[in-house]
Amino acid sequence: MTDSHFETSAIRTQFDRSPNREHSVPLYLTSSFIFDEAEDMRAAFSGETDAFIYSRYVNPNNNEFISKVCIMEGAEDGFATASGMAAVFTTFMSLLHSGDHVISCSSIFGATHALFNKYLPAWGITHSYFNTGNVGGIEDLIRENTRMIFLETPTNPAIELIDLEYVGKIARKHNILLVVDNCFATPWLQQPIRWGADLVIHSATKYMDGQGRVLGGIVVGRKELIQEIYLFGRLTGPSLSPFNSWILSKSLETLSLRMERHCDNALYVATQLEGHHALSAVSYPMLPSFSQYDIARKQMRAGGGIMTITLKGGLDAATGFLDRLKMICISPNLGDSRTIATHPASSTHCKLSPEERQRVGISDGLIRLSIGLEHQDDILKDILQALGQ
Ligand SMILES: *Cc1c(COP(=O)(O)O)cnc(C)c1O
Repeated sequence: MTDSHFETSAIRTQFDRSPNREHSVPLYLTSSFIFDEAEDMRAAFSGETDAFIYSRYVNPNNNEFISKVCIMEGAEDGFATASGMAAVFTTFMSLLHSGDHVISCSSIFGATHALFNKYLPAWGITHSYFNTGNVGGIEDLIRENTRMIFLETPTNPAIELIDLEYVGKIARKHNILLVVDNCFATPWLQQPIRWGADLVIHSATKYMDGQGRVLGGIVVGRKELIQEIYLFGRLTGPSLSPFNSWILSKSLETLSLRMERHCDNALYVATQLEGHHALSAVSYPMLPSFSQYDIARKQMRAGGGIMTITLKGGLDAATGFLDRLKMICISPNLGDSRTIATHPASSTHCKLSPEERQRVGISDGLIRLSIGLEHQDDILKDILQALGQ
């Protein structure tokens, strides 16, 4: 299906039908698979055939999910994991070794930040952060032992963009792996491999499921790298359950439709809120006032479902705003059909020091909004009443 359009591949990529001729792919809830003859089992274990062996390795539902994401991202191969963090961790553990150095953007998902600061140093893996707004500084951070550049764009939660074309060129010039966490954008909006990324990671928990039901993760990219990740994953067991693969593969059928509505709603809400007297800032990539609007236009199809507002009154104003919301939920999640409000300074990013928070653009008045699929007027109405009009 690789010559089909994105929307068609998302629906028509399907695991081989069974003799029962089912229309929609069934759920393969089985931990292992059987062999007709001892020789078949030997050949599967030796890697001479790709017969299914055991669901910690691979399973038909995982295969379908992986195939779809590979087509969407333009990747050669992939490995599906039990969560987005399992994808991040499995990638690091299988490709980084003691003595290696990683360059990462400073605003990254809180748990990834904790991996860099707390665990990787214990295994002799060091890192340097570049300021998200200063990609020109990346080259100064490169050392002889730099093995990987890791980044997210748009960043969480402050919504800053990183020029993928620029970083892709630096990575290639210095022969360093480029790994992009593409969770916020999804492959419908942005395909980092086009700009030179070697691997793309997703928390499928977010927009890929899109309905806040299951945890999942995936890493896709160059075949030889995925092979390393797969071999490590099949030994250590971060594999995605077939049930979650089945859910996620079905969810991908509607990814483009959902993302279009998320983006339309977010652009509408952001446009309407710009200039509101209670706010000092409204940040959304496709607002012409956005400081990196040109990068957004270059590498993203649309602005995504995440925006931020900054309340003038700081912490008190932000908590008051959350407490007055009627429909919109307070939750750490994002990428759900339901609109969600989060106060990063007191929740998802509370582990950062106040200085670190300031450096990555998380002020006490910052609210992250994950704009859902409700009617845009109902979303806006709830925000306006919680702002006190
Ligand atoms: C949520 C998230 C993760 C982690 O994913 P889980 O599925 O929760 O483990 C990683 N990166 C980003 C950008 C995220 O938003």
